[in-house]
Amino acid sequence: MPISVAIVGSGPSGFYVAEALIKSGADVAIDIIERLPTPFGLIRGGVAPDHQSTKRVTRAYERSALTECVRYYGNVELNRDISIEELRNTYDAIVLATGMPGDAKLGIPGDDKKGVIGSATFVGWYNGHPDFKDLDPCLNTANVVVIGNGNVAIDIARVLVKTPEEMVEADLPKGVAEAIQNAPVTDVYMVGRRGPVEAKFTNVELREMGHLANARAVIDPSDLPDSVTGDWSDRDRRLRERNLETLKEFVAAPQAEKPKAVHFTFFAKPVEILGGDRVEGIRLEKTRVANGRAEGTGEFFDIACGLVIPAIGYALQPLAGVPMDEERGTIRNTDGRIAEGLYTAGWAKRGPTGVIGTNKPDGVAAAEAILQDIKEGMKPGRPAFEALLKSRDIRWVSYADWQLINEAEVANAAPGSPREKFVTTEDMLDLLAN
Ligand code: NAP
Repeated sequence: MPISVAIVGSGPSGFYVAEALIKSGADVAIDIIERLPTPFGLIRGGVAPDHQSTKRVTRAYERSALTECVRYYGNVELNRDISIEELRNTYDAIVLATGMPGDAKLGIPGDDKKGVIGSATFVGWYNGHPDFKDLDPCLNTANVVVIGNGNVAIDIARVLVKTPEEMVEADLPKGVAEAIQNAPVTDVYMVGRRGPVEAKFTNVELREMGHLANARAVIDPSDLPDSVTGDWSDRDRRLRERNLETLKEFVAAPQAEKPKAVHFTFFAKPVEILGGDRVEGIRLEKTRVANGRAEGTGEFFDIACGLVIPAIGYALQPLAGVPMDEERGTIRNTDGRIAEGLYTAGWAKRGPTGVIGTNKPDGVAAAEAILQDIKEGMKPGRPAFEALLKSRDIRWVSYADWQLINEAEVANAAPGSPREKFVTTEDMLDLLAN
C-alpha cells in the first residue's frame, strides 16, 4: 500500500513537499488540501500583481499537481470541514504547509483605528483574495504611511503609485484597480525604524522605484552613510552596498516633475496612531541604530495621513489540535516534525522570511523526514478522505475544476492582463455548476 500523505496548504511550501516526495521515487499517494478553490497560496494572493514573471513558478507546481499519484482538493478547510484528528486517522503523514496568513500587530496606541490595515490584508485585497473582497481600503487620502522596509512594503508603495499604463499587465481585479487609480493618493511614506543599510529590500525591487513613470523616490541624503559598516556576512554586505548605491543614485538623479512621491523615511519608529475613530496621522520617534538595534532619540514628528499599512511581518492563526511556539510565532516543531505522523514546512515551520525558493529545501526536508519515519502505508488515505467529504456534502474543487476556473479567468481578462480573477468562492462554484 502506498504511504498516504496529506499536504494542507497549496502554496509554494506545500507544492515543494509534493515535488520532493514525487522525486524521491517512493510509493506515495499525495493529497493536497486547500481551503480556497484556487491553488498556489501566496503566488496568487501575495506576490505583487505587477510581478507576473515571479508567478510563472506555478508551471512547476502544475507539473506536480498533474502527476499520477497527486490529487488536489480545493475548497476544503481544516477544522471547518475536517479536523486534524480525522486527518491523522486517515493519512500516514500530514504536512501542515499553511503559511502565516495573519497580520503582525504594531502594538502601539491607536493601532485599532479604522484606516490601520496590515499588509496581509491590504495585499490580499489588491490580489483578489476572497477573504478581503469587502475591505474598505481607506484610500480617500493624499498621504499613505507604510511601516517597514521589506519587500512587502516596497510592493505596496509601488502598486499605490504606478500609472494605469504601468499596471496593464497586472492582474488586479477590475474594481480594485479602479479604486487605486481613482484614489487621491500622491505621497507614500515608507518608514523604516532602522537605516538604509539595515533595510531588507532586495536590490531589484529597490531599483524599480527609480524608474516609475509618475512617482519620484525621495530620500534625505543625510540619512545615507558613505559606506556600509557593521558586522555582515560577505553576501549581506554586498547586498547592502548595492542598496546604498541605488539610494545614492536616486538622490543624484534629477528630480523629474513627477506628481507623486515615495518618501524613504529612515530612522523613525511608530509610537502612536493619531485621530478619532479613523486614522488622521501617525506619530513617529526619530531613532539611531546602536548594535544593530533602533533606539529612540526622544525627538518626535507627525505625518498626517488617512491610511497606515504596517508591513512588518505576519502572524500564525493557531490551529486547533496543533501546538504553537509562542516565542517564534510558528508551529512548535523540531526540524519540521510536530508529532508522530505530523509535519510542517515553509513559513508555518520557520517564520515569514525568505523568497519563494527558500521553501524548496523545506520541502525536501519534510519529504525526507516522512520517508525516514514511515516505511509503509498503514492508513486508508484517499478513499476514506473522499468518503468523509461526501458524507458531509462538501463540494471539493479538483485540479481539473481549477483548470476550468483558470480558463474562465484568462478568457475574462482585459487586454494585456493575464486574468480577471474571481474574488468569491460562490462565483467559482457557480461557474463549475454551469
Ligand atoms: P521583512 O523583510 O522581514 O521586513 C519587515 C520590515 O518590518 C523590516 O523593515 C522590519 O524592521 C520592520 N518591522 C518589524 N516590526 C516592526 C515594528 N514593530 N515597527 C516598525 N517596523 C517593524 O518582511 P516582509 O516585507 O513582510 O517580507 C516577508 C518575506 O517575503 C521576506 O523574506 C521578503 O523578502 C519576501 N518577499 C519577497 C518579495 C520579492 O522577492 N520580490 C516580495 C515580497 C516579499 P527591522 O529590520 O528593524 O526588524
